[in-house]
Amino acid sequence: MTPQVPSTAGLCATCAHARAVVTPRSRFLLCEKSREDAQFARYPRLPVIACAGYEPRAQGPSDTSREPGEGSTEK
Ligand code: SF4
Repeated sequence: MTPQVPSTAGLCATCAHARAVVTPRSRFLLCEKSREDAQFARYPRLPVIACAGYEPRAQGPSDTSREPGEGSTEK
């Protein structure tokens, strides 16, 4: 199972280059862009609010902000 990038990561939360790394004691966000370009930090300081390497993921972020009862179609 692939760990989710936390929504508090700023741009990284929806970036195609972000990968969550989970250890027994901590959780990191790894920027895969750093492998090909040294200007990007391997473990960027979060939240990232501006980034030249940002590319949105093909699929949207998971929406965990829905309020209870939202989306009900009962009459
Ligand atoms: S390219 Fe930028 S926005 Fe994307 S994961 Fe790396 S630091 Fe985050």
